[in-house]
Amino acid sequence: MNHSGKITDLRVLDVRFPTSLSLDGSDAMNPDPDYSAAYVVLTTDRADGIEGHGLTFTIGRGTDIVVAAVHALRPLVVGQEISAFTTVPGLFWKHLTGDSQLRWIGPEKGVIHLATAAVVNALWDLWAKLDGKPLWKLLSDLTPAQIVEMVDWRYLTDALAPEEAREMLERLVPTRAEREAEMRRDGYPAYTTSAGWLGYSDEKIRRLCREALAEGFTHFKIKVGADRADDLRRAAIVREEIGPARTLMIDANQRWDVGQAIEWTQALAPFRPLWIEEPTSPDDVLGHAAIARALEPLGIGVATGEHCQNRVVFKQLLQARALAFCQIDSCRLGGVNEVVAVLLLAAKFGVPVCPHAGGVGLCEYVQHESIFDYICVSGSLEGRITEFVDHLHEHFLDPCVVRGGRYVAPLAPGTSITMHPASLAAHVYPTGAIWQKILSAK
Ligand SMILES: [Mg+2]
Repeated sequence: MNHSGKITDLRVLDVRFPTSLSLDGSDAMNPDPDYSAAYVVLTTDRADGIEGHGLTFTIGRGTDIVVAAVHALRPLVVGQEISAFTTVPGLFWKHLTGDSQLRWIGPEKGVIHLATAAVVNALWDLWAKLDGKPLWKLLSDLTPAQIVEMVDWRYLTDALAPEEAREMLERLVPTRAEREAEMRRDGYPAYTTSAGWLGYSDEKIRRLCREALAEGFTHFKIKVGADRADDLRRAAIVREEIGPARTLMIDANQRWDVGQAIEWTQALAPFRPLWIEEPTSPDDVLGHAAIARALEPLGIGVATGEHCQNRVVFKQLLQARALAFCQIDSCRLGGVNEVVAVLLLAAKFGVPVCPHAGGVGLCEYVQHESIFDYICVSGSLEGRITEFVDHLHEHFLDPCVVRGGRYVAPLAPGTSITMHPASLAAHVYPTGAIWQKILSAK
């Protein structure tokens, strides 16, 4: 493939969608999110004009801080040869995360890491577009050695060494083509969170459950943790609507202390949730382990990861058997490279990866990562299901498609993340037309 040319510019936009006006996305910790993104565009000196687009997800205020962090990373990218990334993406990731002064404001966590994700994901988008492949296909065509190279193994080798990861990947190479054909034919299993936001009326919950059932979903997630009586009532409604054979999951969005998480989840056990998601602080590895031990006899697993700051904390969660479902986030981790690191770790520990999605753009990203996980890393769909939320997809040129409760394998080149220019222009904060209208009415 021709990867000639230099990256000549990096632009970043503060893009916000006024979702708080409809309570879409409301949960126990985030009552009024405005789904937002720091949106990166990489341009090159190539004649074909191909650009790399990438974003990191935010929920309103603070997006400007992530944008500032992206600007701080700009000198590490602009002026680089495209091939400096595509020949050794792992080395380039270390270059991006290894700036000795910027590292101080991480390392590899928080705002600077969200910014890293936007830039890294834009680089992968550029590569995938240059090769004319969707990201999942680009990744699935890499050799085990190339996949191992893209990971920063520092801090991981006590749990998984690169050589062992390469052997795991090699074992699945002969059967990759079968799984790729299956993904192209059937897509990847999805679950819905759309019916379960806290701000919705009982009627709206019932209607959304019925719609999701009719669309073919078998797994349904609801938000809990703000008010126990309300949780019991809504869990009963959803269980009644979906029947005994389908699957319910519950998500507390970090609302509880450890003891409270155990007790509150026990109260919801009669509705047979498959998992309790983010029961407590995302940094509390031992707390998650304690919750996992307490809930094991009830058949309820702990799920977490959307706020897990990097591969090192994921490693600890896995080592401590603190999670039964690993919820990678395509932008909280440092982009595709670090997501792949966690996919490999999870496979080593036999824990299914069920990515976090929703917001804006996360569904577009995780479909690629899940399909790649199946083809090259896990080789299994057992216990695996990827979140889907039906919001804001209309803003993307190549939005994800979920049919019959499954993500349809995307085929357009890139990472599916490029937004319509008109959507970007209208939602730039605070100068876009949408925000001018809202702010002038206040
Ligand atoms: Mg969640």
